[in-house]
Amino acid sequence: MNKVLLSLKNLSKKFDEAEILQSINLDIYDGEFLTLLGPSGCGKTTILRLIGGFEHPTSGEIIINGKNINDFPPERRATNTVFQSYALFPHMSVYDNIAFGLKMKNTPKETIALEVKNALEMVKLFEHKDKKPSELSGGQQQRVAIARAVINKPLILLLDESLSALDYKLRKEMQLELKMLQRKLGITFLFVTHDQEEALSMSDRIVVMNKGKIEQIGTPKEIYEEPKNLFVAEFIGEANSFLCSLVALENQRAKLQYNSTVFDLKCTKNLSNKAIILIRPEDFRVEKNFEDVKSQNYFTGILQDVIYKGTTIDLLIKLEDSKEVRASEFYNEDSDALGYKIGQKLFLYWVEGWEVLLAHEE
Ligand code: ATP
Repeated sequence: MNKVLLSLKNLSKKFDEAEILQSINLDIYDGEFLTLLGPSGCGKTTILRLIGGFEHPTSGEIIINGKNINDFPPERRATNTVFQSYALFPHMSVYDNIAFGLKMKNTPKETIALEVKNALEMVKLFEHKDKKPSELSGGQQQRVAIARAVINKPLILLLDESLSALDYKLRKEMQLELKMLQRKLGITFLFVTHDQEEALSMSDRIVVMNKGKIEQIGTPKEIYEEPKNLFVAEFIGEANSFLCSLVALENQRAKLQYNSTVFDLKCTKNLSNKAIILIRPEDFRVEKNFEDVKSQNYFTGILQDVIYKGTTIDLLIKLEDSKEVRASEFYNEDSDALGYKIGQKLFLYWVEGWEVLLAHEE
């Protein structure tokens, strides 16, 4: 693991009397791509603005390379921000937009020319250098904003929802480019998004936030496969959850009752009287005949709807207790996936270990 570059220690922020961030503790490692993920209003942008120096914390510390920078103005911080709107200077050419930071620092002309040329090549915009931002596509504007920020050689680049203005296809392309660029530059990226798919595909680690607090920090795989609670599980992808009563917990096995069914599952967690069994739609197997069910862990239900999604289909199934669950299956021409009939009885099972058990938070 690389060294810690930036630490947030008990960082809190109030606007008027509203507590927007509550005692945030976070270490960001040198060279990593870290994403702050959470619903609108949870405080992601506020964290970036505090790190960038555009807001002052109510309490707590911001430390870069061991030094408290709470009282440093933005220009004295080793950070640069790429805003959602890109905030390019409309009357300046691409070249001048990128050169701006160096000109402000009175960098010699020859150095500026060389650095801007390198930056333009890095973001593949050399042939557009004389255009104005309005003559560029959204993706190109975003690359200008990134080039303009990295030319100042920040230790940390702060990116605020910077792909959200792009259409789906361009956004996918830019996600890949941004990640490659980050690897090439070796600069730490702190990226803000409310798009879970984007967070999963780009990040080394993800910080899931909710209402001004951190819910979980982990790699994309950890967050997806071992969510700490229902909020994280449901925010990061789809999840079917079953609230059960704990009947017994011994020898690392839990007996969990859901309606009249008792599931017997491996459990290394400390559960109290209620717990949640969580199953992702892709972890359910669906069968039309009971003989084909290959597990003790199954539900029965009635098919409500089939949703075609290109490579997968989603089956919406109503269980006996009226709970609706979702199962997804790969779809190909040979499969009989579309042979399902609305209203038919189906069996849903999962292989033990594919579920996640969560303690129930009252
Ligand atoms: P989004 O994804 O919508 O950008 P976010 O997670 O980035 O949301 P923030 O922009 O950090 O959320 O805002 C968190 C909360 O703080 C919101 O309720 C917002 O209204 C409030 N807030 C942010 N800036 C200010 C301010 N300058 N004055 C008062 N309230 C503010």
